[in-house]
Amino acid sequence: MRIRKLKLTGFKSFVDPAELVIEKGLTGIVGPNGCGKSNLLEAIRWVMGEASAKSLRGGGMEDVIFAGTTARPARDFAEVSILLDQLDGRDAEVVRRIERGAGSAYRIDGRDVRQKDVALLFADAATGAHSPALVSQGRIGAIIAAKPVDRRAMLEEAAGIAGLHVRRRDAELKLRATETNLERLDTLLGDME
Ligand code: ATP
Repeated sequence: MRIRKLKLTGFKSFVDPAELVIEKGLTGIVGPNGCGKSNLLEAIRWVMGEASAKSLRGGGMEDVIFAGTTARPARDFAEVSILLDQLDGRDAEVVRRIERGAGSAYRIDGRDVRQKDVALLFADAATGAHSPALVSQGRIGAIIAAKPVDRRAMLEEAAGIAGLHVRRRDAELKLRATETNLERLDTLLGDME
């Protein structure tokens, strides 16, 4: 999976619609302090389903919406889209949008989906909002100091099996619900006899 294009509107300092084409090979973002380099990386993590406002340097998730400056009013929504080359050669567009007071919504190729569907799409491709491939400031130190269990999670993500864990948890929940239903059915049958 490769990210080919990143589009932002109203996300943090990117108040006007911005579009970045990401070419094959190594991409570097350069610019003066405070120009928004980290905001771009955060936009990628956010559209991949990042659920922690703190890890996006905000107090609440709505803090990703352009907050206004002395020259420009605040915006009511933020939207980020990434265009992906998938492993099977198909393109896919993932969009996340947040509106003040209304929370986040996700779309894959124009279809409304859940955050979990987006997380699975990336987990199956061995990447995602917490992928060690997205290296933000201070992250190298955090990876070196990680506990063995966290380091194992990174290795599992790199090996592409993180999505399997999510599916196993889903299957276990369904199994438990079915067992509860069977127990209820047994009780009902017992009452009828
Ligand atoms: P450095 O090189 O110092 O790490 P940087 O280029 O990575 O800087 P960022 O940290 O990405 O810059 O951007 C910081 C800028 O984004 C600040 O000017 C901050 O005011 C602005 N910013 C962050 N959140 C918002 C928001 N919700 N609304 C408007 N501006 C925002």
